[in-house]
Amino acid sequence: MPRPILATIDTTALAHNLQTVARRLGQDTSGVGTPSIWAVMKARGYGHGIEAALRGFEQADGLAMLDLDEAVRCRELGWAGPLLLLEGFFEPADLDVLSHYRVGTAIHCAEQLDMLESGQISAPIDAFVKLNTGMHRLGFQPGEYQDAFVRARALRDGGVLGAVGKMTHFARADDDPVVTRDQLDCFNRVTESLPGPVSVCNSAATLTPGLAAGVPGDSQWVRPGICLYGASPFADRPAESFGLRPAMTLSTRLISTHTVPAGGAVGYGQIFRASTDMRVGVVACGYADGYPRHAVTGTPITVAGVRTRLVGRVSMDMLAVDLDPVPGAGVGAPVVLWGQGGPSVDEVAASCGTIGYELLCAVAPRVPRREL
Ligand SMILES: *Cc1c(COP(=O)(O)O)cnc(C)c1O
Repeated sequence: MPRPILATIDTTALAHNLQTVARRLGQDTSGVGTPSIWAVMKARGYGHGIEAALRGFEQADGLAMLDLDEAVRCRELGWAGPLLLLEGFFEPADLDVLSHYRVGTAIHCAEQLDMLESGQISAPIDAFVKLNTGMHRLGFQPGEYQDAFVRARALRDGGVLGAVGKMTHFARADDDPVVTRDQLDCFNRVTESLPGPVSVCNSAATLTPGLAAGVPGDSQWVRPGICLYGASPFADRPAESFGLRPAMTLSTRLISTHTVPAGGAVGYGQIFRASTDMRVGVVACGYADGYPRHAVTGTPITVAGVRTRLVGRVSMDMLAVDLDPVPGAGVGAPVVLWGQGGPSVDEVAASCGTIGYELLCAVAPRVPRREL
């Protein structure tokens, strides 16, 4: 029998989350035109798997990712709608593939325009020219943008590019509306006289009332990622408060139970010591499965439907839990690390100084995935 650990992917939750976000957005932007949705599925669909994500996001207006092979896989699996590479392409040889598979691209640097200008392609490629409005990651500087856009429009006239749009990315849509407003003002100032569709909102911005409604332009695309998987982009607002459902459940079983005598320590480094006699369970999940080694004693975990806590340091293949709240739990008892019937991935992430995104993406290849 294989180890009992399993990542269950609920594609109906993905579809539900997409619909929930679409409905909110529709209400939020009523009167100004509802944006289209790129479902962001980079990093193999935030760790859920391309196939599962594609099934869940069948109703999306478009799919956005980073890896060309992920985009090609979506086409091969039958996706006929728009595709967008958020980092764009990396070398001239990519252009044929983009053109052949009808994959759209972000254009964020002059080198990409150089490659497009000297390349030969069979069919025009749709593109969004990216503006750096203050995140200083990807994008043309405000002073460079007009020239870049003019070059992109010339490529369009030459049949190399198809539709040419405008995009930017927010650095603090999850926690600082003033910074976000400044970034949006910068975007508007630099791009308002230029034609084409616009795309600025990630999950946090998409879920912020009034934000998408304040983005000018007659055709807007939003780019939610994390919320579609049922995790929250906000540190202080749980996903369920938006009506979102976790799409990934990481579960396993107890493989041993024992009583640690008062004063006894659990696991490597002996960082947790029992203050009284205490029942402890050993769980078949460790950092080699993607569970964070930095999770502290007290991190929530559910055993046999009862919420309890992690104790001691996470090992490569195992971790230990406090069984005092679950006296009936023995070997074989079901354990939920996060997801349906357990703590949220965001709660676990908060217990180890990271975000749900990282934990979802980090589930190891050795963990079997099953689609619901
Ligand atoms: C990852 C990403 C998104 C989605 O971000 P979430 O916070 O997961 O919604 C949107 N746009 C770009 C450019 C990204 O890299």
